[in-house]
Amino acid sequence: MIPIISVISSYIVQKKYRKKVQFASNIPEYDHAIIIGGSFGGIVTAAYLSKYFKRITIIESDDVLSDTFNKSTPNELLDYRCRLESPTSIGRLGVSQIYQVHLVAREGFNILYNLFPHLKDKLINEYDIRPYSVKNETRFVINGFLLNQNLTEDFEYIGIDRFTLEIALRKELCLQYGKQIEWICNARAIQLIVDQSANTVHGVKYRFKHNVGSPSLDIYGNFIVDCTGRNTSSTKWLKESFNLIVPTVQIHFGAGYVTFVGERFKTGDPSLDSKSILINNGNTPENNTAYGITPIRTIKTNDENSLGTLSAIGFSCVNSEYPPNDSYENLLEWTKEHLDSEINSILKSTRVCSPLIPYRRAIDDRKYVELLGKKWPKNYILLGDAMCTFNPQFGQGITHACRHARELRKIFNEHCHKLEDISYIFNRRA
Ligand SMILES: Cc1cc2nc3c(=O)[nH]c(=O)nc-3n(C[C@H](O)[C@H](O)[C@H](O)COP(=O)(O)OP(=O)(O)OC[C@H]3O[C@@H](n4cnc5c(N)ncnc54)[C@H](O)[C@@H]3O)c2cc1C
Repeated sequence: MIPIISVISSYIVQKKYRKKVQFASNIPEYDHAIIIGGSFGGIVTAAYLSKYFKRITIIESDDVLSDTFNKSTPNELLDYRCRLESPTSIGRLGVSQIYQVHLVAREGFNILYNLFPHLKDKLINEYDIRPYSVKNETRFVINGFLLNQNLTEDFEYIGIDRFTLEIALRKELCLQYGKQIEWICNARAIQLIVDQSANTVHGVKYRFKHNVGSPSLDIYGNFIVDCTGRNTSSTKWLKESFNLIVPTVQIHFGAGYVTFVGERFKTGDPSLDSKSILINNGNTPENNTAYGITPIRTIKTNDENSLGTLSAIGFSCVNSEYPPNDSYENLLEWTKEHLDSEINSILKSTRVCSPLIPYRRAIDDRKYVELLGKKWPKNYILLGDAMCTFNPQFGQGITHACRHARELRKIFNEHCHKLEDISYIFNRRA
């Protein structure tokens, strides 16, 4: 009996000690993680995994470290975003929803602020962005009910556009974790490198975009996180490499968006002009259209009728009742027909500062990776939109990608799993 007790107690002591050593020495346990996709999911995952991997490589198909993105002043960035010549001219083909109105849930912001402690101050001080009171400066209507009127506690919302947030976040990642993280930009992952008999992913084949005919390059890692978003090729890769079919449910519900940047002026109705954030969600199936206005910058102006903000103003639909983007007049007509009179009066007193950008490909897409159990390959996971995309009107996608990354961190932090089991554990929890 005594030897058994002593074995157990020495095991417990060792386990405790090992944990302590890991924390005390701060040396990452594993060598190299590869992240495919450097948007929200990829950025947050890289920050979390930097504690567990000595090196992290992010393969990103767009030129996200270009001078335009990284050296422009906040005003130049805004100007660049507004002077879009075509929906694809911003250099972010990989996330064509980047121009659409995006709201980040409070939990998402909390995860970002925890990981990047200087982010909020920088957004406010360097990007002319300000926090808004959800209780007093917001009108949030769902199915005809004003949601925020009975809030017992106020909370703040940072008014920012997705384009700027992504850039600011990437800069913070490079500042905080730059030594460990290598970016391979303008490069598309095209296949997984696998050992079929061991059911393991060992790396990624990729090709630089401007070198289409050139041979692909190989990169190897101990763990590969696929953050390639809603247009992911992961199911194709898994079929090719392992003959694995991922159970997937897609719902095509005819979602469409049109968003532009506008400067709001007084409408003459103080109850509207005092609200900076206005959300009116549809009430399907009777009413399939919705709108959202979020401030993205404060501006200095001498015009006393200006509300002093630039806003992302977006319209959305389900059931293919698409808002038009061919002219502002037609958009006004459409809002008159489909939405409340308030939005019409806001639009009439808005100066349009960018093209009207459409988006018409949003679907729900859930990959039931957990159903595959241990058939799922080792050392490879899907994270964020690559695993699950929601109806964008729920405004959850960015937060969900952040939550996924946080869950992955939690699994690594438990320090009791073999690396080869982590994909399987993550799939069950995510
Ligand atoms: C119209 C619309 C409105 C939305 N509104 C909201 C909202 O209000 N709030 C919210 O939280 N979410 C919203 N979402 C969802 C949100 O955009 C996504 O959930 C979020 O971007 C997911 O982040 P991600 O990192 O998983 O993927 P993505 O942001 O899609 O990033 C994928 C990245 O992978 C790169 N990539 C793709 N393929 C490859 C490859 N083969 N090799 C290398 N790189 C590759 C892409 O360039 C991109 O950088 C909206 C979505 C849409 C479509």
